[in-house]
Amino acid sequence: MRVFNFSAGPAMLPEEVLMQAQEEMLDWQGNGVSVMEIGHRGPEFKHIAEQSEADLRELMSIPENYKVVFLAGGGSVHFAMVPLNLFRTNKTADYVDTGIWSKKAIAEAKRYGNVNVAAQAKKSDYLYIPQQKDWQLNPDADYVHYTPNETIDGLEFSWVPKTGSVPLVADMTSMILSRPIDVSQYGLIYAGAQKNLGQAGMSIAIIREDLLKDPLPFTPTLYNYKLQAENHSFYNTPPTYSWYILSLVLAWMKWKGGLDYFTNLNIRKAKKLYDCIDSYSDFYVNHIAADCRSRMNIVFNLKNAELEPLFLELATKEGLAHLRGHKVVGGMRASIYNAMPEEAIDKLVMFMKNFAKRYG
Ligand SMILES: *Cc1c(COP(=O)(O)O)cnc(C)c1O
Repeated sequence: MRVFNFSAGPAMLPEEVLMQAQEEMLDWQGNGVSVMEIGHRGPEFKHIAEQSEADLRELMSIPENYKVVFLAGGGSVHFAMVPLNLFRTNKTADYVDTGIWSKKAIAEAKRYGNVNVAAQAKKSDYLYIPQQKDWQLNPDADYVHYTPNETIDGLEFSWVPKTGSVPLVADMTSMILSRPIDVSQYGLIYAGAQKNLGQAGMSIAIIREDLLKDPLPFTPTLYNYKLQAENHSFYNTPPTYSWYILSLVLAWMKWKGGLDYFTNLNIRKAKKLYDCIDSYSDFYVNHIAADCRSRMNIVFNLKNAELEPLFLELATKEGLAHLRGHKVVGGMRASIYNAMPEEAIDKLVMFMKNFAKRYG
C-alpha cells in the first residue's frame, strides 16, 4: 500500500507520473525500448528535452534572455558552479546565511574566492530572516546568493532581496514551482530535482544570458554554464531517465492547472498544518516567525520530546511516513511539496489532533 510520504527529498512524486513511467517502462511510446535505452542525441529524446524546457519556461514565465540548463548531479553542484562561473576579477560575493543549506553554499564558495556573509539568521537562532535594511551588502560584489527556502530549518523568504545591478542568485531547490517567481529579478536560479521537480540525479539552472561568461580557468569542463548552455545541456550524456521523469512532472503540473493551482494548494496545505500546530500550542511548537514560516517544509516539536518516538511510530502505522526531522535539528518535519495531496494534510492534522488529545 502506498503511504503519504513526508520525506524532504528525494520526495514523493505524483502517482500519475509513477503510473505513466510504469506503463512506459518496457515500451516507450511504441519505440519498443524504454527511455533509458535510447540515445540522447536522437529525435525521440530531443523531444523530451525540448518539451520539458518549453514547459518549464511556460510554468515559470521565463523571459527569453534567460537560458535553461539541465545538468547531472544535485543542487549542491551549483554551490561550486556559481562561484566558478560568476566570480570576476575581484572574486567577491555576498552570501546570506539563513540556515544549513546557505552554510553549505558559503563553505563551497569560500574555496574559490572572497565570501562576505552579508546577513545571518543566527542572531535569532534561525527563527527569522533578517530584514534587508540590516544586511551589509557590498556594492562591488560579483553576485548576492541566498536560499529562498531553508529545507532543514523550515524558514522561507516571502520577499525578494533587492540587489540593484548586482546579480541575485537563488538556490530554489526546495521551493521551485511552489509559488510564482519573477525570474527577471534574478541573475541565476538553480534547483536540484528531487524535491519539487522530479527524481534525484539532476538539477536545473536558469541563467541570464549576459552572465554566461568564461569561468575561472581551472573550472572542470562540465561545470561551465556557458558551455552547457551553448550545447543545450548535451555536451555529454545527460541523466536521461531523470530528465524524462522531470518532463512528466512538468506535464502533470500543467495538466493540474499550472502554477496558480499549486500556489493556492500550497497556501491551503501549509495553513492547515500551522493552524493545527498553533491551536494545540501547549502540545506542539513551531518557533519560526510567522512571516518566515516555510510553505514546503513544516518543522515542529512536541513540547514533551519524550513522546516524539511514539508520535512517529503511530503516524507511520497510519500511513503518514517519514515525518522525522533532519538529524541536525531533530523534532518533526512535514515536507509538503507539490505532489503532496491535500487529503494527506487533512489526515495528518486529524492524527495530530487525536494524538494531542490522547497524550496532552
Ligand atoms: C536538498 C537541497 C540541496 C542539495 O541537493 P543535492 O541534490 O543533495 O545536492 C541544496 N539546497 C537546498 C535548499 C536543498 O533543499
